[in-house]
Amino acid sequence: MSESGLEPVIDRKNSRNIIEIKDLTKVFGDGVEVIALNRISLTIKEGEFLAIVGPSGSGKSTLLNMIGLLDTPTSGSIILKGVDVTSASPNQRANLRNRELGFVFQYHHLLPEFSALENVMMPMLIAGMDKAQASERAHKLLSDVGLADRLHNRPSQLSGGQNQRVAVARALANSPSIVIGDELTGNLDSKTSRLIYDLLRDLNKQINQTFILVTHDMDMAEKTDRILRIVDGQLVCELRRQQDGWSQSDACNHLEDGGLKH
Ligand code: ADP
Ligand code: MG
Repeated sequence: MSESGLEPVIDRKNSRNIIEIKDLTKVFGDGVEVIALNRISLTIKEGEFLAIVGPSGSGKSTLLNMIGLLDTPTSGSIILKGVDVTSASPNQRANLRNRELGFVFQYHHLLPEFSALENVMMPMLIAGMDKAQASERAHKLLSDVGLADRLHNRPSQLSGGQNQRVAVARALANSPSIVIGDELTGNLDSKTSRLIYDLLRDLNKQINQTFILVTHDMDMAEKTDRILRIVDGQLVCELRRQQDGWSQSDACNHLEDGGLKH
């Protein structure tokens, strides 16, 4: 940790591209069309820790759903670890999702009839891990997010913030190379947000996991290494953390706040 409380900036010039997005466009609707994403191009390197910010309705969740292989673009391409997933079969996409990607959704999507422990075990069991091992790892992950005493509670017996933490533990279960979070700290108090941030950062450092976090929380965004700002489905400004502050793309200068506001 540096004196400013931020992680030292790692030079990723030589890291490989883990995600390459080219001219990504998503149009919803038949009658009234909504252009949710408008020709977004973007490269993300392995081990990056980045935030996506922007007003409500700007296309953030749509972009995450594309990266997470939950939805397909209208046009443009996505290459994930060198594989063109735009044209991948549903089977290939499902495999990649289970192996390479971990999600935390805005609404946690936990299975209501299962306990916290079982919810976190689920992706590991699907990936073929044996039950005892999955249980042990789920226990460890739930302890890491501060829920060691809530293992056997179901989602309805937990608060929104606690369920969100179960969802974080579940997303990390299979040690995916890319973790995607949609408002992952949205309903957490600042102390718990900090705990989760520290956990994600440790994983980012230790096992070089890539994190892509949509957030409204600028304190959180400013702790990442790169901030992408999306407005009306377009990437309007990009900031990168340097040793001595942020460098920004030219377009940020046209924004009254220099881009560091959502
Ligand atoms: P954000 O996450 O930034 O708030 P979204 O990606 O959810 O924004 O939405 C971007 C735009 O696309 C919005 O205008 C939204 O209404 C529209 N949209 C999102 N999902 C759908 C859908 N399934 N059908 C129709 N319109 C959608
Ligand atoms: Mg959203």
